[in-house]
Amino acid sequence: MSGRFQERATNPTRGPGDILKWKLGKKEPRREDWKDMDAVRPAVVDGGAVALASGDPVAVWIGHATWALRLGGKLVLVDPIWSKSISGVAPRLVAPGVPLDQTPAADIVLVTHDHRDHMDLPTLGKLSPEATYIVPLGNGPRIAKLGHARIVELDWWKSHIVGDLEITLVPARHWSMRMPWNRNDTLWGGYVIEGPEGVAYHSGDTAYGEHFAEIGARFSIDWAMLPTGGYAPRWFMEPQHVDPVEAARGFEALGAKNFLAMHWGTYRLTDEAIGEPPERLRAYWGERGWDASRLWILDAGEARPLR
Ligand SMILES: [Zn+2]
Repeated sequence: MSGRFQERATNPTRGPGDILKWKLGKKEPRREDWKDMDAVRPAVVDGGAVALASGDPVAVWIGHATWALRLGGKLVLVDPIWSKSISGVAPRLVAPGVPLDQTPAADIVLVTHDHRDHMDLPTLGKLSPEATYIVPLGNGPRIAKLGHARIVELDWWKSHIVGDLEITLVPARHWSMRMPWNRNDTLWGGYVIEGPEGVAYHSGDTAYGEHFAEIGARFSIDWAMLPTGGYAPRWFMEPQHVDPVEAARGFEALGAKNFLAMHWGTYRLTDEAIGEPPERLRAYWGERGWDASRLWILDAGEARPLR
């Protein structure tokens, strides 16, 4: 069965047979210190709520792929998930960096795709009805069902302006599915947010691909939010999620100034030890001799000024 956006979906696809092979088949050997590495968690720190309320330009990692950004005076939430589990299946390992009731009302909510760890309907239903909800093509009705009225659907490379911010949906090497019968019926992507203080990019979920260079050729990115976890086993995940080295290569292809790590430490979705993504990312960064101040592996709730 092929959905509306089938021709844009990542290749090769992974079907139910692959999932069975992953879950029931022979496991890849684990590193010797797997248990110790798996016990690592992001710290949860105070300060995010105050920073977001101050009105100054700032990025706060809430956890997983969720960011709260203050840019151009607007409060922007990306892929908001505050839930204690993903659809009741994968429990949350650390608390959200800022409790939802201490997070200022969003002006703009960006959702990258319909996978349940990114489009969390229970969280989205609790967010401000005044906000503008921006989603890739085909996802609007899901947001409308929650009672929200200001919804904008975008195709790749199309943009929408809110106040001083211009928000563009950009390609990602990924796919979509809520239910087995609606695979690739809706679009997926990442977002570039151009504001007076600079340019932010959130990749959504993505495998490595030429889109990083294409996005980098069109935008001068200051802050690149990139996934670091969700990559093992590679035979299964390579077409949909970067590993830490591929994320760093993507960062290089983008020509971005700062790497903001995400998509790790919050929910167990794949086979790598929970603490492995930041360790591998730091190691690769060191091997390349890149400036350590440009690698932002934030604690949950940590606020970093955007300037
Ligand atoms: Zn996904």
